[in-house]
Amino acid sequence: CHTLEKASSFLTSQRHPLSLYNFVGGQYIAPDNASAESSQRIDSYEPKTGRLIYTLPCTQPDAVEEAIKNAKAAFPSWSKTSRAERSAILRRVSELLQQNRELFAVWESIDQGKTLERARIEVDRAISNFSYFSTFILHEQTAARMVDGVALTYEHRSPAGVFALISPWNMPLYLLTWKIAPCLAFGCTAVAKPSEVTSMTAFLLGGIFQKAGVPPGVINIIFGDGATTGAALVASPLVNGVSFTGGTQTGIAIRRLTAHQIGKHLSLELGGKNPTLVFADSMDRLVRERTIRIAAMAAFENQGEICLCGSRIYVERSVHDDFVREFTAYVKDKYIVGKTVGAVASLQHYDKIRRYLELAVEEKATFHLGSAPPALQDNEPQGYWIEPIILTDVAKDSAIQIDEIFGPVVTITPFDGEDAAVQLANDSEYGLAAILLTTDGSRMRRVGEQLEAGLVWVNCWLVRELGTPFGGMKNSGTGREGGEHSRNVFTVVRTLHLPA
Ligand code: NAD
Repeated sequence: CHTLEKASSFLTSQRHPLSLYNFVGGQYIAPDNASAESSQRIDSYEPKTGRLIYTLPCTQPDAVEEAIKNAKAAFPSWSKTSRAERSAILRRVSELLQQNRELFAVWESIDQGKTLERARIEVDRAISNFSYFSTFILHEQTAARMVDGVALTYEHRSPAGVFALISPWNMPLYLLTWKIAPCLAFGCTAVAKPSEVTSMTAFLLGGIFQKAGVPPGVINIIFGDGATTGAALVASPLVNGVSFTGGTQTGIAIRRLTAHQIGKHLSLELGGKNPTLVFADSMDRLVRERTIRIAAMAAFENQGEICLCGSRIYVERSVHDDFVREFTAYVKDKYIVGKTVGAVASLQHYDKIRRYLELAVEEKATFHLGSAPPALQDNEPQGYWIEPIILTDVAKDSAIQIDEIFGPVVTITPFDGEDAAVQLANDSEYGLAAILLTTDGSRMRRVGEQLEAGLVWVNCWLVRELGTPFGGMKNSGTGREGGEHSRNVFTVVRTLHLPA
């Protein structure tokens, strides 16, 4: 794991920006002797300071195709390895990640801006991704059925081929391994591309795969932007499937790019603008603290940069003012910039959030906490810090209420009665997640089952079991991942009919 040591020593030396390079055919392709790699490079900055920390290649279409060919060449052999063998390799990956947990967590925190504590949680989840799928494949079963005593039918699944695995910048290692682990477990090979904003932990992963004994070409990791590298990757006719997590507009672009390739598997996990519904009963004395804590966590964890964050809070009118007051006091006390709140991921993202907050000022929204942050100067590096923002008096048709801001910004709006709550919650193009805070058992089901969201959390948030279907409704995506749902993404099924 030479790369792990190099990256680790950079943490203490901090003199020069590092150079990342692609991991193809089981090896890192160093820029100086890489004919396949473009000389074009992308700069990556540390969100907490604004300093340049590394550069990455903007991999050009011919080099993308080369990586895909490596995955294609590795497929026949990898797809035929026994489940026990693949399981053992994935288990080694999870153990090696465990051994290097702190290195990955420190880099994730530096690269993405998140707190180290949050980064550790995500590295642990990445470790679970590999350990979960390493055992899942050992227990798969196929049901056989007799048809009227004349034929026996059964489903036969085989690996679907070469996959493009593309991830966003908010939970870089966790989301990329959520794709790599099942892809390899089910016998597919892949070319993975992390976000150009946060490529470091994906780069380090190459060293882990080498050491774990993943055969060359089974997993290739390339770097670059979406327009050049990502588009070439998803569009290639050699790629049999795409597992993508990112914004809705990019999901639409990927659908367009692959529209003529009918058989290509597409799993699209896209954006959200998730509602949190606070019913009056959840502000009863005994559960009040829990309600405030969950609503705050759902709003501000990872600076609001989680696709599942509840950024539209709706509160039953009778407790609205109390909620706003107590929620604001709680957030002010617990969510401290630089301690429990990290920096937002990039200058571009900082500017996007800042523009929404300037709009909030223009539209005369009430700021209960925080204010529009200043524009940052180009000439000196500065961190991309935004304090938690709590807004009321935001119009229903304001862009602040409609668009996914994906930062530490929540709006709070009153509602009257259950039907209105459901209507407001569903009044969005998105349908990824929803949070329901109530103590009424029948309401939990009644309202929960009406919410247009792939994931509904009642009196909790972000609880995950890796076998449950994960994905969104409406413009939040198509397809589900997790356990057997990931198997649907990464395998093809044929039904065999044998004479009895
Ligand atoms: P993005 O869509 O801009 O980029 C995501 C990835 O797609 C990056 O690796 C990017 O380089 C690549 N890409 C961009 N254009 C491409 C193209 N034409 N072809 C192929 N690849 C392309 O998203 P982002 O800004 O990195 O991430 C934020 C978004 O991700 C938010 O909308 C958030 O809700 C969403 N997200 C969704 C989930 C989920 O599970 N549903 C989880 C996390 C984040």
